[in-house]
Amino acid sequence: MSDTNALADLLFPSITKTPEYYEILYPERGLPEGTVVTRYAPSPTGYLHIGALYAAMNEQRVAKQTGGIFYLRIEDTDKKREIEDGIAQIVNGLQAFGIVPDEGFAPDGSEYGQYGPYQQSKRGEIYQTFAKELTRQGLAYPCFCSEEELNEVRAVQESEKLRTGYYGKWAKCRELSLDEIKANLQTGKPYVLRLRSPGKEEKRISFTDVIKGKIEMPENDQDLVLLKKDGIPTYHLAHAVDDHFMRTTHVVRGDEWISSTNIHLQLFWLLGFKPPKYAHIAPIMKEENGSKRKISKRKDPEAAVLFYHGEGYPKESVIE
Ligand code: GLU
Repeated sequence: MSDTNALADLLFPSITKTPEYYEILYPERGLPEGTVVTRYAPSPTGYLHIGALYAAMNEQRVAKQTGGIFYLRIEDTDKKREIEDGIAQIVNGLQAFGIVPDEGFAPDGSEYGQYGPYQQSKRGEIYQTFAKELTRQGLAYPCFCSEEELNEVRAVQESEKLRTGYYGKWAKCRELSLDEIKANLQTGKPYVLRLRSPGKEEKRISFTDVIKGKIEMPENDQDLVLLKKDGIPTYHLAHAVDDHFMRTTHVVRGDEWISSTNIHLQLFWLLGFKPPKYAHIAPIMKEENGSKRKISKRKDPEAAVLFYHGEGYPKESVIE
């Protein structure tokens, strides 16, 4: 058995499903060519932002124009930010504006659709299967660096005016041998699972954003975290796995995600998935003292959709 196979079994002893299993479980949707599948993928933090409503409207409209599917996926991997009732609030918040997803959740919290679970906290085994597969292929490894060690590395990088992060010679745990890993595991040291990025900073990638046109950026060379210490995936891994297996054709999302798209395209490629098309939408802006700025959740009460309701604006005006 190769070291990477042994490592995969060591880290994920209970994962017995294979990538092929999920390919069969979640087959291609078999929709006519050109049919668009989109999703609205909020975190259930109990606050419908006007920008999120705008995104959901775009996502629904883009799909419906082609007779496609618009679904709701709850991205609840950050339990600290979550509120009770978060899902119901999202579903009701959307419904108040006439947005009812084709798959996802009903107001009573029940799920519907063939590509679920539509809640990331219920998809642990799927993510772990792909984390195991990447490990098996030598594309992921456990990193035992503590917060303090990472801070020290960052301080050195900053003092030497270098790019910060876990890459190249800074990626200390990249070269740990199987025996060293075993020894760390035996002492119960916590670890995250990192991508062993094959990217080179000096190489460039490009993609065509459906809204913004051609975008070029360096390849990703950072060994990003795929699974956190508790085994929960980061956005990057969850995005690739979910949007592949829910068969999303167009990822419509806020343009704050543009700079991570090199990571996402790399992950789709390494996982052997066809990447979706990306449409990055601009944030809602506010005019203030003759200039424009992004509307802020912290500063502007009108960032919350509920604000308009409270002030008596009819929903048609908000949609407009
Ligand atoms: N949960 C992510 C967010 O709320 C979703 C981004 C996306 O649409 O992919 O920012």
